[in-house]
Amino acid sequence: MKDLTTLWKAVLDKLELIVSNVSFVMWFKPLKVVDFVDNKTLILAANTTSAKNQLSRNYFDKLSSAVTDIFGADLLIEILDPSEEIEYISLHGDKNSEKEVVVSKNPFNPKYTFDNFVVGDSNKFVYTACRAVAEHSGVKFNPLFIYGGSGLGKTHLLHAIGNYYKEYFPTLNVLYVTCEQFANDYIESLGSPAKNKAVLEFRTKYRNLDVLMVDDIQFISKKTSTQEEFFHTFNELYQNSKQIIITSDRPPKEIETLAERLRSRFTSGLIQDIQHPELETRIAILRKKCQIEKYSIDDDVIDYIAERVNSNVRELEGMLAKVHFLADLSSKPSATMEEAYEAFNGQLEEEKNEGIVADDIIDAVCKYFDITRQDIIGKKKSKEVVEPRMIAIYLINEILEIPLVSIGKIFGGRDHTTIMHSRDKISSELKTSHKMQSFVSEIKKMLSEK
Ligand code: ADP
Ligand code: MG
Repeated sequence: MKDLTTLWKAVLDKLELIVSNVSFVMWFKPLKVVDFVDNKTLILAANTTSAKNQLSRNYFDKLSSAVTDIFGADLLIEILDPSEEIEYISLHGDKNSEKEVVVSKNPFNPKYTFDNFVVGDSNKFVYTACRAVAEHSGVKFNPLFIYGGSGLGKTHLLHAIGNYYKEYFPTLNVLYVTCEQFANDYIESLGSPAKNKAVLEFRTKYRNLDVLMVDDIQFISKKTSTQEEFFHTFNELYQNSKQIIITSDRPPKEIETLAERLRSRFTSGLIQDIQHPELETRIAILRKKCQIEKYSIDDDVIDYIAERVNSNVRELEGMLAKVHFLADLSSKPSATMEEAYEAFNGQLEEEKNEGIVADDIIDAVCKYFDITRQDIIGKKKSKEVVEPRMIAIYLINEILEIPLVSIGKIFGGRDHTTIMHSRDKISSELKTSHKMQSFVSEIKKMLSEK
């Protein structure tokens, strides 16, 4: 049982990772949970009518998939505009925060199965390894370490293994956590009033597993106590021939925060990478998705999307959903090239509207911290300018996705490794520091109000 506020916060955290910052701040962050009816329907309120429209039109798929992931079930979602919200509350009262939610027993996303995973050259080895681990449960590849860029199917594969265990080995004690959940769980036990008991419970939970899956290990913090705990958890499970599966966006040797002894543990099993899907696989993924979601979409539209979106599968799916939505709006039985053009144009528009450039970010950071442009770009090393500089670097990289080398140029010809260090430092602080979280969200807010 979890309360609604906690679950909703987790949904937002997830969305923040997958939509652009400006969209997140403008559309998602202001959403309020109004009610949760019969464990089935989630009622949300947008802060303006246009936010409601944007969300329903362009972001519904992302919203609903994040909700499915966190709540562990396919829910109906209703978005209200402010006047509908008032009406709703006057009819039903305002009691959302008291609600407790029964989260579905199966913690794995029912859509993330092996059957729904399209295999191609880019991912066939990793697929085979996951399959082998799922079928033999235990010692074949231990640990299995999967790495690859965002949106390439790592989480999908972990859930697929989990779903497989649930179906064929239901008695196995399987746990899926993100690296962050592991850390929070541990830190929470340390901070508990009955600390010894809480730490013992934590250890009982993690060390008696048959299978431990840790997603996104690159976020492991340098904090020695958490790494230490993870190290012992790992050893205990490993020595008892329990399966460990880990994912990361990069190979172990590139995770700077990782202690050497953990790195060498990770390297002792099978390390398998997952590549960007090639065109044929992208087409197959789109077809599969149409089949799962019951979208009717013309073949030339599928080819068109597959040719244009080659970065990651999440974006591929997003574009497909958008095209489907546009066809649905005009009640067409099937999406045609007309919707495809519109969807891609719309995206260009949206990017243009955001219209933020590196200078805007630098200005906003300077204003927020009350320092000058020369300070931030220059060589000063005092704490008052170093932290804002790193934040500006982080934001430019995150919002504009400008290559590190070019960011180095903006910042007075700094080396790209310095830029990378700044970015990673802020992104790791964001995981734990409330102060940093509020700096970044305030600055983003300033940018969105620009
Ligand atoms: P990652 O964890 O690597 O960032 P995800 O596992 O969250 O990526 O995948 C992003 C989306 O793309 C998910 O909806 C997932 O189902 C889908 N996806 C990724 N790879 C494939 C694939 N090979 N076949 C089908 N769907 C895929
Ligand atoms: Mg993932």
